[in-house]
Amino acid sequence: MTLRPFILSLLTFTTLSATAQESPCPLPSEGPVQNLIFVAKPTEENCRLAQDLVDTLDQVRRTFLMAPPVTLVIGEQAGNASFDNGHIIRIPQHLVFSDAQGGTYQANTEQLKTVVVHEYGHAILKEIWAQDFNEEFGELFTGLEEISTIAETNLELKISSRAVRQMSAQLANSDAYSLYFKTLPAYSELYADALAVIFFDDPAVMYKALYYPQIPANKEVYIEPRNFAHEHSAEQLHAHPDEHTKLSLVRSFIGKNMPANPEQKRHLMKRLERAMTLAIRDELSTTSTPSLEEANTRLLHYFLEQNP
Ligand SMILES: [Zn+2]
Repeated sequence: MTLRPFILSLLTFTTLSATAQESPCPLPSEGPVQNLIFVAKPTEENCRLAQDLVDTLDQVRRTFLMAPPVTLVIGEQAGNASFDNGHIIRIPQHLVFSDAQGGTYQANTEQLKTVVVHEYGHAILKEIWAQDFNEEFGELFTGLEEISTIAETNLELKISSRAVRQMSAQLANSDAYSLYFKTLPAYSELYADALAVIFFDDPAVMYKALYYPQIPANKEVYIEPRNFAHEHSAEQLHAHPDEHTKLSLVRSFIGKNMPANPEQKRHLMKRLERAMTLAIRDELSTTSTPSLEEANTRLLHYFLEQNP
């Protein structure tokens, strides 16, 4: 991305000054995490968590040989994590889920590691899509990257500015934005889940990351289809449609064909990436939306076609 050199020089400066002033939490010299920002003051506890997450993403880099640079923001307490489609991953230091009675459950470090790998999967895929779909979404990705850069500066300086809201609103009005959010999120969620499942050698790892005791049934039905160890049905997916679950027939297939070593892991993710690009090209070439069955069958067809 054209903005990357600017970001790196800015971050080198801000990271050094933050380290000198207050951060007891230095970054290692290599790895995909280029900057670490704490929303709350860095403490021994959240620094240890951040180091765990930074190390985990470095292991992802070494396994998959892909390393788009990201900024990791350790937030305070929240019910979710996110990737901003620029270069910022936000992870709360306390990821908290609620039950129907108002009780809460705090995710453990293993769950947070899974979540950060999932978010990093989105970052890897965005880098691939910025090339594969440059014509359709190049401007959108550049705009999102610009917003990310401003948001990062704001986080560093602990200020908020109208620029991020204004630029986001402007982007949200574009045709590319509507097309992106109509077509691509289900593929991105599948890829991000698959990266975590394959990295951790555990088809159930996404389910385990989001599951908690006393999870309400109306929430559990949206995480169960993300369990690659289960055989999902089209009927089940129709009952609870969501971009996180739409392609779960492919999740079941991957769960039954787990790779055995790093080379196979890289190969599987490559096949998935290529198959998704072909399926998305098909979707973009027509105004009609495929049914859930069609979307899963087509993606599997392209996946099997990619030189196993
Ligand atoms: Zn996601």
